[in-house]
Amino acid sequence: MERFSGDGRLIIPLSVRKGRKSGGNDEKARYVLEEAYCPKGCNIVDPDHEVDGFPGLRIKFRRPGMEGEFILSAVEGSLGRIILSGQLEDGVKDDLYCPHCGVMFEVVVNCTCKPDADVVAVGLTPSLDFNNSVCFCNVTGCGKGTSTRTGDVIRRLGAESE
Ligand SMILES: [Zn+2]
Ligand SMILES: [Zn+2]
Repeated sequence: MERFSGDGRLIIPLSVRKGRKSGGNDEKARYVLEEAYCPKGCNIVDPDHEVDGFPGLRIKFRRPGMEGEFILSAVEGSLGRIILSGQLEDGVKDDLYCPHCGVMFEVVVNCTCKPDADVVAVGLTPSLDFNNSVCFCNVTGCGKGTSTRTGDVIRRLGAESE
């Protein structure tokens, strides 16, 4: 029932490769996150909900007048997500929380897409280490840094604002 792929787009099989990529916004080796944690160490990978063919990351969102949960694709660079409850609006920012303990995901850097947009980090280890984390923008539909290594996003956004 909740296994539709969002907006009906065809999901193209990805060549899955783990590891680090370097540079370049267009061509990149994609990888799939197998573990992801909130800042307090809860595992947010949800094996019951797959996006792009892999268990996604469960995230709670809240903004004035709306809250809910969605599953974010664990595939690097994918905007795929399943909304479990509430509604997301394109171009609108939500504060993002752990669905288990309710702690807010940490803001790494401001995103350039909106004045108040934040890029938040999701750790790959139970204790948050920005060097071992991925991050994404908290504005729905913003493709900047979706599940991309935090270090790469900081470099990329830094280069853009120069
Ligand atoms: Zn938590
Ligand atoms: Zn953004």
